[in-house]
Amino acid sequence: MNSTIVTFPDGRVSGRSEIVLAVPAGDRHGLVVAETPFHPLDHTWPDQPADRGTIGGLPVVDCVTGAWSADGFHLGEEIPVRRGAEGWQWLVVHVTDTPLPVGAAVELEVDAGHRTALSTGHTACHLAALALNSALAGHWRKETALDGLGHPDFDQAAITSSRISPNGSVDVYRLGKSLRKKGFSADGLDLDEVAGEANDRLKAWVAADAPVRLDVPGPELTARRTWHCSLPEGAVSIPCGGTHLPRTSELGAVTVSLSLDDAALTMRTTATPPA
Ligand SMILES: [Zn+2]
Repeated sequence: MNSTIVTFPDGRVSGRSEIVLAVPAGDRHGLVVAETPFHPLDHTWPDQPADRGTIGGLPVVDCVTGAWSADGFHLGEEIPVRRGAEGWQWLVVHVTDTPLPVGAAVELEVDAGHRTALSTGHTACHLAALALNSALAGHWRKETALDGLGHPDFDQAAITSSRISPNGSVDVYRLGKSLRKKGFSADGLDLDEVAGEANDRLKAWVAADAPVRLDVPGPELTARRTWHCSLPEGAVSIPCGGTHLPRTSELGAVTVSLSLDDAALTMRTTATPPA
């Protein structure tokens, strides 16, 4: 059993392949093919939801990561190691209500509209993180790791979860003791001002029609892919396993709103792509 070859990083939404493994997925069926355009939910950092679509004409009701090693097969949250761990084969598992036989050649069709909406949400999410880093730069009292635009990387230092949805995302950051020790001060934090600054920057980045691309070092699911965007202030790159739009102008408009609840800062990002 080899790792699944994936074509979603190149923007593909259809393909044809052979079923190489069928495994139980609860009381449903998990189908693995040699090569797929489907993006599965990642078990380590489950930011971008699974693609929807069909396999062999059957609805794909879920698409998850599977991992195979000498001690057997594990699915999704049951995988005991981190994404890409050595000694494991990493598989895209298409979950269906009806079984299909191993050896069958099947057509794979991703719901292209849903994929585009998730790509929109994911590209907006990365830009919003960079805009937030920039707007919060004045709150750092110590030197810390910088993002690709030279701002203290608040996003990397504080993020606890990121959830992408069609045309949007919700990112949660912890403003606790450990972030304070790293040098971030929330004193005098004016959320409206920070959001306003971030939104001005996002507006400029969409207007700049900056190109976005993924660097894909290999065809396997767990290849270490990198998101690149050439913004007016400079070229930025972020490790990323998801899918993206090819240009920032396709986001239409991007805005963030911020809320603070105990020590959690939540950023809601919304894109409004042109009709
Ligand atoms: Zn990403």
